Amino acid sequence: HREAALALAHQPAITNDGHRVEVVANIGSADDAVKAVEMGAEGVGLLRSEFLYMERTEEPSVAEQARVYEQILNIMGHERPVIVRTMDVGGDKPLAYLPLPQEENPFLGERGVRIGINRPAILRKQVRAILRAAGAGHVRIMFPMISSLNEIQVVKKLVHEEQARLGIEKVELGIMIEVPSAALMADLLAKEVDFFSIGTNDLTQYTLAVDRGHPKLTAMVDGLHPAVLRLIDMTVKAAEREGKWVGVCGGLASDLEAVPVLVGLGIHELSASVPIIPEVKARVRGLNRYECSQLAEAALEQSSAEAVRKLVRLA
Ligand code: PEP
Ligand code: MG
Repeated sequence: HREAALALAHQPAITNDGHRVEVVANIGSADDAVKAVEMGAEGVGLLRSEFLYMERTEEPSVAEQARVYEQILNIMGHERPVIVRTMDVGGDKPLAYLPLPQEENPFLGERGVRIGINRPAILRKQVRAILRAAGAGHVRIMFPMISSLNEIQVVKKLVHEEQARLGIEKVELGIMIEVPSAALMADLLAKEVDFFSIGTNDLTQYTLAVDRGHPKLTAMVDGLHPAVLRLIDMTVKAAEREGKWVGVCGGLASDLEAVPVLVGLGIHELSASVPIIPEVKARVRGLNRYECSQLAEAALEQSSAEAVRKLVRLA
């Protein structure tokens, strides 16, 4: 299987009834970008930008940040879009140069875009660096942990100010859908952005109220839980009504059992971990879009993730 998939790694992923699904990569560094291209990634669906600076004890300058983005954009080339997610620190991800106060519930605390909004100077520098690098390729900007409309308006204003300052034309802006409130409000949020990318790791954690890293409860943290699938379904339908596209960049996009369900729910782009990209593409090629939508309909009516997995195996 692996060898057959690798042989076709650089071919597009098209279902047997002619529906194309973009298969892109989750990366955390320029080295990952090189490997992503080798594995046939059609772009980057998630650059976890916080990984670039995790060990730094001082904040990187705008010029230094811009250099890394430019390097990654050069590797991917103009034909492969790169979604840079602004820093998602807090929760389980510390950042040495940004000491955060101790919190009782860090996953429910100052995390992701909340930090950017509370300390706009840091976010502004990052956005400036991304925009400075924009000419090197096809860049998109995405914000993590959005839970309300007002947060989008604040960060959009910041991006527009920086664009005006640098004289840069429109850059596509998206948000992660990884908090249940964002999925539930997707109809309103879709009017404000160019795309959504569903973070199934956090969406599952917050929907099922299970810590995504809990050692004893790993079996419970399954993004194929129908409650999560219903939120994904709502998100896609809301986006479609506004003519916006939806990707998945959480672990579910790298789960070969989940791929037919996600395709059936109308997901346009799967952002997977680099090594599995050829297999995700191969899986898509073996699918029929119509059958996947039937499968997804049935999955939404199941009572558990196990039942959904059983359904997929029988399909
Ligand atoms: C997610 O939450 O699914 C996601 C892709 O973001 P991260 O894993 O970086 O929190
Ligand atoms: Mg997340």
